[in-house]
Order: sequence, then structure tokens, then C-alpha cells
Amino acid sequence: MRRSLLKASQSQWLREHAPRYGFMRRTVTRFMPGENVEDALAAAQTLASNGIGTVLTHLGENITDRAEAQEVTRHYLDVLDRIRAANLPAEVSLKLTQLGLDLDNEFCYSNLVALIEHTPAEKTLWIDIEQSPYVDVTLQLYRRARKAYANVGVCVQAYLFRTEKDLDALISIGASVRLVKGAYNEPAEIAFPLKWDVDENYLHLAQRLLSPESRKMRVRAAMATHDRALIKKIVEWSASQGIVKANLEFQMLYGIQRAEQIRLAREGYRCNVLISYGSFWFPWFMRRLAERPANVLFLARNFFSS
Ligand SMILES: Cc1cc2nc3c(=O)[nH]c(=O)nc-3n(C[C@H](O)[C@H](O)[C@H](O)COP(=O)(O)OP(=O)(O)OC[C@H]3O[C@@H](n4cnc5c(N)ncnc54)[C@H](O)[C@@H]3O)c2cc1C
Repeated sequence: MRRSLLKASQSQWLREHAPRYGFMRRTVTRFMPGENVEDALAAAQTLASNGIGTVLTHLGENITDRAEAQEVTRHYLDVLDRIRAANLPAEVSLKLTQLGLDLDNEFCYSNLVALIEHTPAEKTLWIDIEQSPYVDVTLQLYRRARKAYANVGVCVQAYLFRTEKDLDALISIGASVRLVKGAYNEPAEIAFPLKWDVDENYLHLAQRLLSPESRKMRVRAAMATHDRALIKKIVEWSASQGIVKANLEFQMLYGIQRAEQIRLAREGYRCNVLISYGSFWFPWFMRRLAERPANVLFLARNFFSS
């Protein structure tokens, strides 16, 4: 089912037609507070009152029009201004294919730089990681940006065999890294096909990210997972290494494991929730369905009750 849903996420026809159905829209509201940036900012405010920070992302990917990529860049510049004006504990995360990576690397990089320069020094502008053909170029552009600016971070995926090596290189430059399991359909030649192996690799990579060497390099390590068993193992291992709670960061998606988000924040861990918004939600929503079969039942229930 995971593979079929991930395949569906790339269908142009479904992308154009599926969002018109009410039951689809109703199901999506579980994972996003609304389509407008105002909805995301209001949700960020509520989370902030519970001691939870946020990372905002405007849904969109694989933009093939220069003007559209510039429009996305302007949108994020405005979001950064709004975050500052509202004094919110919020950051931004984006996909390089939103900034024109499919068109021209230099054009994409100049859009990225404009956004990094607009991000306060004490915050991080996060770069998502997309399908495997984009990993090399994303890390290349990330390294280039990191040489010039300290306030930029990148995501890496535990399901890829290559990630351990990538992570070592990132640690050596004192990068900010968000570790995820990985949300795309990748072939067994380059990614662990079994969830068990992905989970084991995640823990191993998390330990690398929290190692004395990483801490010496002042790496910002964000553990982005909803996997409570894994979170428990990371928490226990970190305590055994003398890592204080405030230096252990978890990130989760809006609407998933809400009780766990609140628990972590209350117990003194750093907890950030990624809020997605925008009308281009179909491929992103399909990835959320693929992550948990029960979400498909939830969608089916909304279909039959409509
Ligand atoms: C902050 C953040 C940023 C991310 N950025 C990227 C990125 O840039 N690139 C990328 O490839 N992936 C990204 N992801 C997605 C990630 O790769 C996984 O697909 C996703 O987090 C599910 O994996 P998991 O670690 O939660 O573990 P899983 O083993 O998949 O899930 C553990 C448990 O969490 C709950 N859960 C997980 N997903 C869902 C869901 N969709 N709906 C309801 N419950 C769920 C379930 O209870 C499940 O049993 C990001 C995830 C987060 C949290």
C-alpha cells in the first residue's frame, strides 16, 4: 500500500482532481491547520503557549517556472517578517525544488541566499531533503551555503545507505541537521527496504549526531520522528551521555502525536512542530497516508460519511 500511495503522489491527474473532493479536504485538516499562512501562524501561536516551537513550510515542489519560484521566495521573505513581527518561536523549512532547483542551480542558490540572509542569526532556515536524485545537489548547495552562513540547516534520511557518510561530512562542518526516516519511494539498491533496518539505522545516526565530536563542532541535531519507542531510546541514551534535556531537540509534524509533543516540551526537551500550509497539498498528503495505513481508513470513513 505504501508504494501505491507514493506512486499516486506523483500522478499529475490525481494532483489536479483529488483536492476537489470534500472528503479529501476534510481528512487533510487533520494534518494542517489551514491553507493560508494566517492559519499556520495562528496554530504556531497556540503551540508556543504550550512551550512548543514551530517550523513553517508552504506546500509546493518541483516548480518549473522562474516567476513562480521567485514568488515562493517572496512569500517566504514575508513569512520571515511576520514571524519576527509576532515574536514567534518559529523557523522556516523549504524544498529547493520550490526555489527553482529543476530550472537552474545558480538561480535556486540565489533565492536560497536571499532567504538565509533574511533569517535571524539565532534561528535556522531549514532545507528539506527530497527524492534521491536531488540528494547530491541539495547537499552540495547546503555545504556552499553553510560556508558563508551559520544559520542554515539540512535534513537527512535514515533509509538511505549513503546517509552515514553524508552525516560525517556534515558533522565536520558543524552543520544543523534534521534527521528523518525518509518519506519517498526509493529502490532497494540505495535504501533499506525494511522498516526494522531503517529504525536501527536511525538510532545509530542519532547517536552520531549527539556524539561528543558533534557537540564539539556545535552541531544542531534535530530528531524528527513520531516513533515513541525510538524517542525513548534516544532519550535514555542521551541521559547516559550526560546530555541535558534542553540540548535534545525533537521535531514532529502538526497533528501527529500531539500528546507526545506536549509531554516532551513539559519535561524540558526542545520540541518543534512542523506546520505545513498551502493549496498544493496532494503529494504531501499522499506521503502522510503512506506513513500510516490507519490514515487510509480515516480517509475512507470521511468518504462514507460524506
Ligand atoms: C519535522 C519533520 C520534517 C520532515 N522532513 C522530511 C524531509 O525533509 N524529507 C523526508 O523525506 N521526510 C521528511 N519527514 C518525514 C519522515 O521522513 C517520515 O516519513 C515521517 O516522519 C514518518 O516517520 P516516523 O519517524 O514518524 O516513524 P514511523 O515508524 O513511520 O511512525 C512511528 C509512529 O508515528 C505515528 N505516525 C507516523 N507518521 C504518521 C502519519 N503520517 N499519520 C499519523 N501517525 C503517524 C504512528 O503512530 C507511527 O506508528 C519529516 C518528518 C518530520 C517529523
